[in-house]
Amino acid sequence: MEGGDSVSSWDQGRAKYDLIVVGGGPGGAAAAITAARSGARVLLLERGRLPRQKVCGEFVSGESLELLAVQLGNRSGALLKSAVRIREGRLFVDGHTLTTPVDPAGASISRFDLDAELWQAAEAAGVHARLQTSVESTSGDGPLRVRTATDEFEARAVINASGRWSNLNGKHTAHKGKAEPNWLGIKAHFTEREGRPSVDLYFFEGGYCGVQPVTAGENGDRRRINACAMVRSDVAHTLPEVFAQHPQLAERSSRWEPAMETISTSPLIFERPQPTESRMLRVGDAAGFVDPFVGDGISLALRSGVTAAECLIPFFRGEISLGEAIERYRRAYERRLLPVFQSSSRIRRLLKLPQPLRRTILHFLEGAPAATRYLVTATR
Ligand SMILES: Cc1cc2nc3c(=O)[nH]c(=O)nc-3n(C[C@H](O)[C@H](O)[C@H](O)COP(=O)(O)OP(=O)(O)OC[C@H]3O[C@@H](n4cnc5c(N)ncnc54)[C@H](O)[C@@H]3O)c2cc1C
Repeated sequence: MEGGDSVSSWDQGRAKYDLIVVGGGPGGAAAAITAARSGARVLLLERGRLPRQKVCGEFVSGESLELLAVQLGNRSGALLKSAVRIREGRLFVDGHTLTTPVDPAGASISRFDLDAELWQAAEAAGVHARLQTSVESTSGDGPLRVRTATDEFEARAVINASGRWSNLNGKHTAHKGKAEPNWLGIKAHFTEREGRPSVDLYFFEGGYCGVQPVTAGENGDRRRINACAMVRSDVAHTLPEVFAQHPQLAERSSRWEPAMETISTSPLIFERPQPTESRMLRVGDAAGFVDPFVGDGISLALRSGVTAAECLIPFFRGEISLGEAIERYRRAYERRLLPVFQSSSRIRRLLKLPQPLRRTILHFLEGAPAATRYLVTATR
């Protein structure tokens, strides 16, 4: 840690750090920023380049905007000020439209900008940050060793923030060869002449597509929108195939013009979150992937990243052992973050009901905005 004697011997010689964070998404950046601001010597490794597009609905929940502002520090002004505020949610299901306020209002922030700004905030906090550096393996018990194709680093602690589908999480092999259809994520930006500043979710058998504005489109300009779908691979593979699944979406999208190339990701796998592994802490999607329609993945990544770093700080100061820090994180994760995963399954359960029963419930909800609001709030 800089500015203190407690770990100065650690700082000698070749590349050694208090903390190595693997993965430069919101979870990894938040962990790195929090640890570095406390004085820890931090290395952040990201296999890709930034800025880059990412499959994501780009809805940042209102509850996490303050935390995001803290992470961004003095970089937060322009990004948060220019972000379109999302104050309304509309659910288009089985011919019904459920409208509900989004309170507190969320924000629409492109991952192209968000991840790059967080990366720069990490560098500004003193983090050694390296792009295009893929971690191949981690090992050891203390110190921990982190290997890339060309280097080996040592750290007192390692945070795995490598996302949903990384070589480090062992899921590649675990899910290889499974026969059931995959869930895919598909996204592109389009332009649209006009529309409401709402997050619109179009549900159909085998998936759904979220649509929200990314820019406001003032003075008669077309606004930029994000269309991001989660869909079963036996239902659709492309966005036009997704749009064709829902009559209102098909009609609306016929007036859009593409603003970027479509990107996709698969498989999307939902499992019980696992916030720790042997001597490492997992944050964000590496710990657990929450159903995207609750719009809380970025929030969970930020919150778990900050929490993991906060649990490690007393270890860096020599006050507790690494094992104790990991245990504190596991308990904090289960107390503060696990409930989000549990409640997100409520709407999923509703959507899996037989259609006649679902129709009856939706008919009731359509005439009862307070109940709709409760249902949506209960997933947050
Ligand atoms: C279809 C879809 C829609 C979504 N919509 C929303 C939404 O509207 N709102 C919301 O809040 N969330 C949404 N999410 C979820 C959100 O995108 C994730 O929860 C969020 O990106 C998690 O952040 P993270 O930092 O954990 O992981 P990521 O953002 O995935 O970052 C992980 C990083 O680790 C890097 N990496 C991987 N392996 C290695 C390695 N070996 N070495 C070095 N680097 C590595 C990757 O390149 C990546 O940059 C959506 C997800 C999907 C799939």
